[in-house]
Amino acid sequence: MANSWRRERWDSLRLLTPNWQSRLPGLRYEGPDPDGYMTVGEVTELIERFAKVSRAPVRTGVNVTSVRTAGDGYQVTTSDGEIRSQAVVIASGACNRPTVPPLSDAVPALVRQLTPFDYRDPGQLPDGGVLVVGASATGVQLAAEIHRSGRPVTLAVGEHVRLPRQYRGRDIFWWLQATGVLGERYDQIDDLTRARHLPSPQLTGAPEPAAADLSTLTAQGVRIVGRLGRIAGGLAQFSGSLRNTCTLADLKMNRFLARADNWANARGLDGELPPAHRFAPTRVDPRTPLELDLASGEITTLLWATGFRPDHSWLDIPVRDHAGHIRHDGGVVTSAPGLYVLGTPVLRTRASTYIHGAVTDSEALGAHLHSFLNSQLR
Ligand SMILES: Cc1cc2nc3c(=O)[nH]c(=O)nc-3n(C[C@H](O)[C@H](O)[C@H](O)COP(=O)(O)OP(=O)(O)OC[C@H]3O[C@@H](n4cnc5c(N)ncnc54)[C@H](O)[C@@H]3O)c2cc1C
Repeated sequence: MANSWRRERWDSLRLLTPNWQSRLPGLRYEGPDPDGYMTVGEVTELIERFAKVSRAPVRTGVNVTSVRTAGDGYQVTTSDGEIRSQAVVIASGACNRPTVPPLSDAVPALVRQLTPFDYRDPGQLPDGGVLVVGASATGVQLAAEIHRSGRPVTLAVGEHVRLPRQYRGRDIFWWLQATGVLGERYDQIDDLTRARHLPSPQLTGAPEPAAADLSTLTAQGVRIVGRLGRIAGGLAQFSGSLRNTCTLADLKMNRFLARADNWANARGLDGELPPAHRFAPTRVDPRTPLELDLASGEITTLLWATGFRPDHSWLDIPVRDHAGHIRHDGGVVTSAPGLYVLGTPVLRTRASTYIHGAVTDSEALGAHLHSFLNSQLR
């Protein structure tokens, strides 16, 4: 139970979402620190508690190796025997494998390559410089932690989402919820594919330092470079558009803050909240290098913080698109009656990307599933 939180997370990780938001169906946070951020151990406990409270017939340590259609239902093969069922809910997670780009093949052998699944703490890394590729939540958090361990860190930055931890005295997730962003439905979002693949925000739940944006990392001594585009002859080449990428992220952050201000103003909350303000634009060093010699010995570790992807290799039903994603309509796999998906980004609303999204998503899915099973009985 809570397998991904036990085995696939680094030691210092804390949720980005505040404790008050970490809800599951019928279970809400009632601890002493609603504004804090859960550690990996606390998330594991939350899931264990949910298993007890929900009284679901959980079987742990069972691996599903195949799901295929059989008659008007499904045949599920597991490490603990066969199961026949009328319906299947695929809730195997969106982050089963780290994404590593093909250019990893060109990394010189003397550089050790790691993914966030291999990484636990900086103590496991050799001495020497570390190149972290990817500057979303995982990349910025690990860059900061590794830098604090005394190793020089270079962070390669592609498209990213900049958000402040706090704005006008409230957590940014309070604003995302209050303004209705998290509640936006999948069928109201213009570019759903893009929304489903949006990078995670540059945030940390760690108490110190609370900010994880690029200017903070630069001030701490992390070297920021552009997106890693190519590795040739041991030379890593970075995009020259770092400044533009950062300007775009600043712009989008300011657009959201303006939406937050308008929301507060329309509800007459300006008197209750600290005044509206804006954050300084991201600092980009004009001398940012465009190349780094990975064969020189300066870099001993390369950490791929380039995202995660699901693993549906056990699903023997042709319901995936060319990119390997299950085609579904808000969690309902229309081409396979009785097959459902739960727990993927922007499944039904933007909140689906987060743990608490399960509350409303499972309600909607449960209602559909209930009527599907009833229709089978008739
Ligand atoms: C690094 C990281 C940080 C995150 N931070 C936050 C955060 O701050 N706040 C937040 O709300 N959300 C966060 N999330 C997202 C959060 O993890 C997901 O919203 C949530 O875990 C979804 O739950 P789930 O049960 O659907 O999937 P998962 O938690 O991924 O669980 C899926 C389970 O299915 C199991 N499984 C997979 N394949 C099989 C199989 N074939 N047979 C049997 N079992 C299988 C897996 O082992 C796993 O136990 C984060 C995710 C990651 C990767």
